[in-house]
Amino acid sequence: MRSRALTLMVSLFLSASVSGFHLSPPALAATSEATGQKIKVYSEEQKGMVMVSRVDKTEAEWKAVLTPEQFRIIRQKGTEPAGSGAFLKSHASGIYRCVGCGQDLFSSTAKYDSGTGWPSYWQPIALANIKTAPDNSQGQTRTEVICSRCGAHLGHVFPDGPKPTGKRFCINSLALTFMKK
Ligand SMILES: [Zn+2]
Repeated sequence: MRSRALTLMVSLFLSASVSGFHLSPPALAATSEATGQKIKVYSEEQKGMVMVSRVDKTEAEWKAVLTPEQFRIIRQKGTEPAGSGAFLKSHASGIYRCVGCGQDLFSSTAKYDSGTGWPSYWQPIALANIKTAPDNSQGQTRTEVICSRCGAHLGHVFPDGPKPTGKRFCINSLALTFMKK
């Protein structure tokens, strides 16, 4: 656990140094977007990397399993109002998972109060479990954070987080479920 956390920190540092702010871990670059494609991600339950199938659904299928608010956030790149999220003030120990596919995304150990109005984390549970992409919408230059398994829009990552990564993963509560430890 300790060495994995260290590796993650080093990876975050390296990717930040090499590619400016955009996280682009080499392992993710090789990941295919094809339907049913297997990807390697970290599983908290297995305490290691596992192979899982990507989750691809049609818009109708997503609407059938998500609430309208969840659908607006994770499938239409929406943002919940600042201060409104269910997990904003949560300090319970556990794992935050993707509401779309259940993939482990963030540990409560990396959660902190950023004062922004959204749940904030200084690192994902594993770089393989997320993807990032440039987002130039709304006249801003931001980096979108996406679930690597189902493509859910989760939020954005900013370069003003606390040590050791200096990153702030600013995530919508509506994109998450919580598994208490
Ligand atoms: Zn997902």
